Amino acid sequence: MTMILKARYVAPVDRPVIENGSVQIEAGRITAVGTAAKFPSQMMIDYGDAVICPAFVNAHTHLELSHLRGKVPPSSDLVDWLCRLVTVSKDAPSTPESVARAVNAAIRHSVSCGVTCFGDITRIPALTRGPLAESGLHVVSFGEVIAIGTRRDLLDERLEAAALTERESSRLRIGISPHAPYSVEPDGLAACARKAQQMNAPLCIHLAESRDEDAFTRHGTGPFADLGRRLGIWDEDVPISGCSPVELAFRTGVLTRRTVIAHGNYLTESDIELITESGASVAYCPRTHAAFGHEPHPFRKLLASGVNVCIGTDSLASNPSLSVLDELRFMSKRDPGFPGETLLAMGTLHGAHAIGFADELGSISPGKCADLAVIPIESTTKGWSAIFDGSHPPVAVYHDGEQVDVNAD
Ligand SMILES: [Zn+2]
Repeated sequence: MTMILKARYVAPVDRPVIENGSVQIEAGRITAVGTAAKFPSQMMIDYGDAVICPAFVNAHTHLELSHLRGKVPPSSDLVDWLCRLVTVSKDAPSTPESVARAVNAAIRHSVSCGVTCFGDITRIPALTRGPLAESGLHVVSFGEVIAIGTRRDLLDERLEAAALTERESSRLRIGISPHAPYSVEPDGLAACARKAQQMNAPLCIHLAESRDEDAFTRHGTGPFADLGRRLGIWDEDVPISGCSPVELAFRTGVLTRRTVIAHGNYLTESDIELITESGASVAYCPRTHAAFGHEPHPFRKLLASGVNVCIGTDSLASNPSLSVLDELRFMSKRDPGFPGETLLAMGTLHGAHAIGFADELGSISPGKCADLAVIPIESTTKGWSAIFDGSHPPVAVYHDGEQVDVNAD
């Protein structure tokens, strides 16, 4: 069956915005896009004052932490926050049922915000990959590896769990995530990189999230060394790398063109050069970044250097919603002069590119999946970028050409 959606604007991302535009959908795929006048009007669903965009891509999140919403308020002390997060997580042990509930609720909430594709980090792949597979959404499930100090011997076991391919499909792809340079030793980072290469899998790493990471990798000192001690996992054999976190990731082979760097908040010029050279993407998490009171994010410099910068929400433990649109609106409010086209691309096509789904999603192009978000704008506003001024969630979300019930949650 052919279906045609119409709205005052269609923002395809990979081509100019179309006024009075339409998108044609057949068998779950986009088959044409153009001005509405070119399409037969009898099959049209007209959304009027709205913008039809590609559905959003959340390039960095932790869906399994969704039950921690509001329980660990962010502060300017990331190490303290991580400690509180560990304590709260221990107090609420995960059962298969509770994990499935948290992941399913996070998926429903995300889809209602127009997000149909994720780069999701999981510490419990055996529990999260079932609900992710059943969602039918495009997901890279990055199995998280932590192995440092007295826990370094757990590396192989954790890597094996991270690499579990039981539920893998064309839509649920498996990735490896060495957590961060302060939680995986250099040998472990290299082992994760090798494993990803063997599996032809993408990588994700929390990198340069806080200024303190540099003291840790360079000198083995600072709050992250203290964190290791507070958690009782520190020992004197933790290696000191003597370089920046980005350099360490580069040297150990973690930075590849299929790597997502989560955060990248503190980067020197030479870090940016290494990232550019590697072809890795950076997932900027705007509201989480602001909640922790970081210095301004270098996303403009990264974009200027040719780095693929995409958007993540991080988890509900540090962010009020899993809406990529809310992240873009937050950025637009802070920097009204930033080009709307780039902003929308960061929340859609750049994310799809970062996690390897750009052939399927991220723009309104014939052949791609009909995953779309319809965002209302005021009738009096001029210009499609008014989607960043409002606060309304999408009025409709399509996944595989089917309208999803956005009021389900
Ligand atoms: Zn994260």
